[in-house]
Amino acid sequence: MTDRAPRRILTAAATALLAAAGLTACADDTGGASQPGKVGVVAAFYPLQFLAERVGGDTVAVSNLTKPGAEPHDLELNPRQVGEVVDADLVVYLSGFQPAVDEAVEQNGGDRTFDVAGVTPLRDAAAGGHDHEGEAEGEHAEEGGGKDPHVWLDPTRLATLGDKLAERLGKADPDHAADYTARAGALRTELTKLDTEYADGLRTCRRREIVTSHTAFGYLTERYKLEQIGISGLTPEAEPSPKRLAEVAEEAREHQAGTIFFETLVSPKVAETIAREVGAKTAVLDPLEGPPADGDYLSAMRTNLQTLRTALDCS
Ligand SMILES: [Zn+2]
Ligand SMILES: [Zn+2]
Repeated sequence: MTDRAPRRILTAAATALLAAAGLTACADDTGGASQPGKVGVVAAFYPLQFLAERVGGDTVAVSNLTKPGAEPHDLELNPRQVGEVVDADLVVYLSGFQPAVDEAVEQNGGDRTFDVAGVTPLRDAAAGGHDHEGEAEGEHAEEGGGKDPHVWLDPTRLATLGDKLAERLGKADPDHAADYTARAGALRTELTKLDTEYADGLRTCRRREIVTSHTAFGYLTERYKLEQIGISGLTPEAEPSPKRLAEVAEEAREHQAGTIFFETLVSPKVAETIAREVGAKTAVLDPLEGPPADGDYLSAMRTNLQTLRTALDCS
């Protein structure tokens, strides 16, 4: 069904005629990404929206299934949003991250889909955790055998997703294939610069352990040789047990963590409780699961870098 896209791409003249006749506004009543003359891309959550907008430029219209302020892990879709998936020229999603999106794609996506989980192998959920000799991690049952979806927090991996998205968009809209490739290349340049800033900024620090609300930062800590101590597991809504809270407080003390991180989309209560207990501060470390309040992925990642450098006492 890749021949769907060209049918949606009207010539400029046809678009002008439709506009003159007042037809564009009601050309599609599902809202979402559909705009005459543009490739309609539905992104499952913010970093994929950012990617689609940067790579697609002005020849695509991007909508985001996860509305601002919503937490994407447990997203549920209403019928209108399922309609967006049905009508999209391309659905960009990450299988295994949002079950409701997986289901909508399976039932309605046809071959108009791009699964970023299929681009490069994802980390095992249990890999690279913070362990001490002889400590069991058995209680994190939800992590058993699963994959860590938070791949966008490694800028170099996001650049690779951008290159592959450009290829996929080029198949859906061959007339603009070269533009997609060029934009993905420009984005890669920016992401490479960000990666260098992270590597330089986190090279020499007094501490390397970060205590986070949920274990969203595995790709970031792996790339920049930090250690993540997650209060809850891979999904933020998993309520940590009193035993886990005590363990994390103990870890925070042992590694002299001066800062306990919490997230924009999740209540800071648990982080605050641990911070109070160990005499630490709290600060926001944004896992970019929703759009930042201002700026974009790049500026929010730079804010995260400054936050990390302060918390870890980097020179
Ligand atoms: Zn997450
Ligand atoms: Zn430790």
